Amino acid sequence: MKALIIDGYVDEPACLGVPPYISPYPRYIAGALRERGLSEKDIHYLTIDRLRENPPGAGELVKKADLLIVIAGMTVPGKYLRASPITPGEIEALFRVSGGVKVIGGPIRLGFSCEGGKAAKGAESGLSLGDAVLARMDIEAFVFDLFEEGRGKQPGKGMQPESKLKAPENVEHRFRTTAEIGRWGQKGAFLVRQHPDYPYCMCELETYRGCGRPVHCSFCTEPFYGASDYRPVEDVVSEVSCLYSHGARYFRIGRQPDLLSYHGTDAGGPVPKPEPEVLERLYRGIRNVAPDLSVLHMDNANPITIAAYPEESEQILRTIIKYHTSGDVTAFGMESADPKVISANNLKATSEEVFEAIRLVNSLGAVRGANGLPEILPGLNFVHGLMGETKKTFQLNYDFLSLVLDSGLLLRRINIRQVMAFPGTPMYGRDEAAQKHKKLFLNYKDQVRKNIDLPMLRRVVPEGTVLRDVMCEVHENGTTFGRQLGSYPLLVGIPSSLPLRTFTDVTVTGHGMRSITGIPYPLRINSASNALIRELPGLGRKAADAVAAGVPYADREDFLRRVSEGEKLLRYLEF
Ligand code: SF4
Repeated sequence: MKALIIDGYVDEPACLGVPPYISPYPRYIAGALRERGLSEKDIHYLTIDRLRENPPGAGELVKKADLLIVIAGMTVPGKYLRASPITPGEIEALFRVSGGVKVIGGPIRLGFSCEGGKAAKGAESGLSLGDAVLARMDIEAFVFDLFEEGRGKQPGKGMQPESKLKAPENVEHRFRTTAEIGRWGQKGAFLVRQHPDYPYCMCELETYRGCGRPVHCSFCTEPFYGASDYRPVEDVVSEVSCLYSHGARYFRIGRQPDLLSYHGTDAGGPVPKPEPEVLERLYRGIRNVAPDLSVLHMDNANPITIAAYPEESEQILRTIIKYHTSGDVTAFGMESADPKVISANNLKATSEEVFEAIRLVNSLGAVRGANGLPEILPGLNFVHGLMGETKKTFQLNYDFLSLVLDSGLLLRRINIRQVMAFPGTPMYGRDEAAQKHKKLFLNYKDQVRKNIDLPMLRRVVPEGTVLRDVMCEVHENGTTFGRQLGSYPLLVGIPSSLPLRTFTDVTVTGHGMRSITGIPYPLRINSASNALIRELPGLGRKAADAVAAGVPYADREDFLRRVSEGEKLLRYLEF
């Protein structure tokens, strides 16, 4: 039996699976298939971008695979540097040509929409699925249950008769258990080797699903996962160990609504009380099994957890800084600074509480780390179009961001989006403000980009900062675009055509609103192009042309003798 997993990508509030990220979904599915007796060589994995390139044998595989599994669903779609999520037309075309059993699942089960500000449609009504089945709960559990019991590899019984599939309509839809993903996460770790970015792919790690708050934000789909199902620390660590043994070196603990609340306990507060000792075990365990990892980052943290439990949160942040790699981000879902919107949508924290959380993270994490970025900084997510939004909401949000900027604090990123209302959330059918304020939203976003993002970026990575290990990813009009592998990486444009899939250190030379310009560090002055020399920090066009005209320089002394600004440039150069 052959199975083909097509990764159409996922982007959820608490899970990312767009290259260079690989989400847990395909890995868990591969693990479930292994447990049903399929060998590694019979489990094939293609990202949708790879499939579009039509690699040898892919067309045949789509037609002939006994089981075709499509993962899809962008609940918070973004813009991606070199990846395009699967389209509804592509899903339908795949299912038309496939001759095997066809299953689709992932966040698409909650519905789909192409952009924020537009309500999501149900997948079954909005797509022509033919005889494909939508996994209405967890796709990994559905795939596992598709197999006839007693077949495949049985614990303690070895290999049973050849794996056989049931009719999909006879399979119950259910959530997987933490015990199941404990096993499947390990068994499916081999799949990273089939990722097109391997070994430079970021493995998204799951610690738990389900929001621990007693009330939930009006727009959020996380409550659909039920109560928080914390995975045992040992399971997460064992999964990292398996991924590491297959060559994975880049990790993000991103699949949870609030990392600080991992294994939190109910102490009667607005969120679970954090357990610093558990986070210490998690991070120490990961470092023990993956001693030479290249990146260990996190994603979501709830600002109300920090505001409600500052001591425990501080302890956890210290643990994170001790074990992680620098350039890390605590993404705070602030959503709005408007008290009326906060109240109408059950949002988690007031602007004062978020401000305190930003201050705490800055006090511990603003120091520059080994990769050139601060150790850990807060990111802020805003959602517009929520219930109760008025024109004043935009002003209040802007004022809050100005306050953060004027207070000398650092923010790593500000994400501003319009709500995508999903069926079953209180927001569904009540997102009229998103359409009504569309123009206002675009103007406001523009103002934030110019007046907040730009000065903030100059503060986070001042000119002359050296960023380590920027991976060159795309060429465009003579510029190479690259990023450090990590959480919310900064986009770097280098005015030179550098080989793709190679790493370079970069000196920051200029700032856009959400990206920076840089030159390779150190710059080999005698072979550098004029375009690169012109980017050297603090050098005017005329002076840069004079430096370029003076090439070659025999050594540092020769450079200093012949270039009047030589002293301040030396630290960026190599001879
Ligand atoms: S705090 Fe709100 S946004 Fe965050 S997971 Fe819970 S319900 Fe969702």
